[in-house]
Amino acid sequence: MSALIDLSYIAASILFIYGLKALSSPATARKGNLISAVGMLIAVVATLFDKHIIGYQWILAGVLIGTAIGAIAAMRVPMTSMPEFVALFNGFGGIASLIVGWAEYERNLPSWTQGVPHGGDTPIAFTATAIYLAVLIGGVTFTGSMVAYLKLSERISGKPFLFGGQQIVNGVLLLAVLGCGIAYAVAPADTYWLFMLAIALSFVLGVMATIPIGGADMPVVISLLNSYSGLAACAAGFIILNTVLIVSGSLVGASGIILTMIMCKAMNRSLGNVLFSGFGSVTAKKSGAAAQGEAKALSPEDAYYVLEAAQSVVFVPGYGMAVAQAQHVVRELGEALHKNGAEVNYAIHPVAGRMPGHMNVLLAEANVPYEQLVEMDAINPMMDSVDVAIVIGANDVVNPAARQDESSPIYGMPIIDVDKARSVFILKRSMASGFAGIDNPLFFAENARMVFGDAKATVQSLLAQFKEN
Ligand code: NDP
Repeated sequence: MSALIDLSYIAASILFIYGLKALSSPATARKGNLISAVGMLIAVVATLFDKHIIGYQWILAGVLIGTAIGAIAAMRVPMTSMPEFVALFNGFGGIASLIVGWAEYERNLPSWTQGVPHGGDTPIAFTATAIYLAVLIGGVTFTGSMVAYLKLSERISGKPFLFGGQQIVNGVLLLAVLGCGIAYAVAPADTYWLFMLAIALSFVLGVMATIPIGGADMPVVISLLNSYSGLAACAAGFIILNTVLIVSGSLVGASGIILTMIMCKAMNRSLGNVLFSGFGSVTAKKSGAAAQGEAKALSPEDAYYVLEAAQSVVFVPGYGMAVAQAQHVVRELGEALHKNGAEVNYAIHPVAGRMPGHMNVLLAEANVPYEQLVEMDAINPMMDSVDVAIVIGANDVVNPAARQDESSPIYGMPIIDVDKARSVFILKRSMASGFAGIDNPLFFAENARMVFGDAKATVQSLLAQFKEN
């Protein structure tokens, strides 16, 4: 039976890796999700045959309660709340690893007190260190994710919380946690109180590490916390010597950190800058020159006449498209433009929306052909030959201040160069700023026109005119 379980774990691990690979393209992402889910099912079923299980009643209760909560939440949570939902998931992953570590410590303690390893020949120091890492990383992940959840769901202020000497306090906390860890790993049987102190400190550290980070940077932090939850699970795998937990934890840990780095690169920021700079704590007035001039508004009727004559059109979706749930009508408008003879593309900025791949998911849901989705680096060189760029609820990702204004907080962030198109239509409800909270000089550009209103209503009205004429 044990060999069969191991074989199942190998099969599950292979499916996880294939699933991850398939997730890297919109065309195969759904399949990737399914493949990984099958891998997880195999891993869970194989684990249920483990000889160490002493009863199924608690497992069954956990499965039933967890499935009910997960299914209801997945159905009810809107797409726009997905990042905070992911934060909650990470937090639960972290606390689960912490509980595994703590439970194993209690289980091992009687043997360790007599100086012998518990039920096997794994050295005490090895198991003790793995337990400590699972508890520490799990605790930081749990409270850090809860703060991220509260900030993103606006239950607490999304602004960075900064105070003098914050870095020193955090540094001291980190040293204390490491000190406790070393003292505990040397003599785990005699340092129960140090272990408890470490749990408390890890909770405090998670809060302290996340409160200085502004709401706009939270998705990056969530990706990092995701990586931590993987590392915590990996440590838990080493405690209970479960290979599939070690493999899946490492995969989550590695992919989380890769995603974190991709997001930092897309914002032209270092991870250190995201974690420690308190980005967003400065106000728009202090940061960067205020955009000036007079924005010119255009009605959907007049916008239609320009679009009707356009040969090439690029849609640039952003967070507002998700809020308006405009993706389906946008696809219909794209089809109408295509039928009218225009070349139509969708330019995707890597951090448009509120989570990586946000726009890809929405456009895929609306059945936009994958070959029309063009990445930022591919579309920018073509932008000056585009007749109309239609910005749909995007703001920061098309803000030319990132290119022009050295004092802007987003200076250096790569953007989609819509200002280089012959005409730019900006579909949004007001002149309000985007998530970074800064003015956008694009609104005042010669070739830009504001088409005010809810993105879905505006696109519907444009579409209606294509259908009428
Ligand atoms: P922004 O947050 O910059 O702008 C969104 C705009 O949408 C707002 O200005 C708003 O203007 C408009 N909007 C909101 N609701 C509607 C509606 N119903 N109809 C029409 N317009 C609407 O979004 P972007 O996508 O341009 O940029 C993403 C931001 O998030 C960047 O700052 C990025 O760095 C940050 N971020 C994203 C991450 C990711 O993974 N995607 C990760 C980390 C950070 P108005 O209120 O006037 O309508």
